[in-house]
Amino acid sequence: MEFKVVERSPFARIARTVLKSKNVAMVLGKSIHLSGVSRDTFLKDEGWVAHELCHIRQFKEHGYLRFLWLYLLESMRVGYYNNKFEVEARLEGMKHRRHMSPALLAASEVKPAGAPLPADTKRVEGAKEEGQS
Ligand SMILES: [Zn+2]
Repeated sequence: MEFKVVERSPFARIARTVLKSKNVAMVLGKSIHLSGVSRDTFLKDEGWVAHELCHIRQFKEHGYLRFLWLYLLESMRVGYYNNKFEVEARLEGMKHRRHMSPALLAASEVKPAGAPLPADTKRVEGAKEEGQS
């Protein structure tokens, strides 16, 4: 799938600050915006990449603005965690994790950041902090 990774994205940075998360990956169209996590660390994480690629597919399927609108409506209706777009992406991201122990599974979980946008957070082991610029 065609996609772009934007490191130190100001959009993801804002989401990260507002949500007080350590790192955020946020999908807008075909771009994955990162803050608090480097491109390399992100790309090495198969499950996380699969999760965000699912959001890119959702943007494609529904159209840019329509998807943002549907995502927002879903979140208002059932909450971020149960948002069907997040449920779908979470399942995508889990496909690689069959062999993991329950503890590892919990640690590797990608969580919706709670923004009215397809933004996600994750606890990344050993991730370097990014510069503030
Ligand atoms: Zn997500």
